[in-house]
Amino acid sequence: NTDTHYYFTDKPEAEKRIKPRQKFSHKGTFGHAVLIAGSYGKMGAAVLSGKACLRSGVGLLTMHVPACGYEIAQISVPEAMTTVDESEKYISEAPDLGSATAIGIGPGIGQAPATAKVLEKILGQAKVPVIIDADALNILSTHPHLLYKLPANTILTPHPKEFQRLAGDSSNEYERLEKARVFSSKYKVIICLKGANTAVVLPNGEVHFNSTGNPGMATGGTGDVLTGIITSLLAQKYAPADAAILGVYQHGLAGDRAAEARGQTALIASDVVECLGW
Ligand code: AMP
Ligand code: MG
Repeated sequence: NTDTHYYFTDKPEAEKRIKPRQKFSHKGTFGHAVLIAGSYGKMGAAVLSGKACLRSGVGLLTMHVPACGYEIAQISVPEAMTTVDESEKYISEAPDLGSATAIGIGPGIGQAPATAKVLEKILGQAKVPVIIDADALNILSTHPHLLYKLPANTILTPHPKEFQRLAGDSSNEYERLEKARVFSSKYKVIICLKGANTAVVLPNGEVHFNSTGNPGMATGGTGDVLTGIITSLLAQKYAPADAAILGVYQHGLAGDRAAEARGQTALIASDVVECLGW
């Protein structure tokens, strides 16, 4: 049982984590992200996470998508390589992970049994950091034995409903945070409890509350953008705790810039992608 220590991620706390680009760097320096995302009717989640991943500095990105998403991914995200699943509408096989430096899985994937098998296989094989979001979290909830297969420092990014499915009911935010702390230390994973002031909960008992973001971000697709950002930072060899803390901050900052530009009501997830950058 570890003590809890609370931190607040303001501008200096975020910026001290940023690794500046070196003059003689090349795309190999910045890693190869593999994003496993999308299903029939939810390819937008794959596109948003892919764009956000590229906008966050990764050297190379491969998007693994179901066959129905091939043209969508290639046209919407021309900078990414696309590998195509043998299944038309959902993910049914793991992509080649040989050159991956980080793996992101979940945006828009649905919960087909074959997709659950892919998640299990990836957790068994992964030699690089992993971030799990969205329906991949829901698969963990319905296949709880997989929780014991999560590599140490895997990053989970649940919104309140996804966290409830993972860890059960909480009567208030304090209880939810305490549940996240227990979950994080039990399974040795990093939990980004998303919402206003997203809490990044580390297995060592640290809780980092984010300072950026606004209610304009309560709109479909913004979470997929966060997954892309954190996958990108992991691929660039940011330590998982730094990738989570900095990624959450940067996502909120981009959301604040987007809200500044056009107001909270009109804000959509694509605007957050467009406002990324540091
Ligand atoms: P998701 O529900 O997976 O699309 O994720 C929503 C994203 O928007 C998360 O990164 C949240 O932290 C962010 N978000 C949602 N509502 C708010 C809010 N009221 N204030 C700040 N950020 C928010
Ligand atoms: Mg989401």
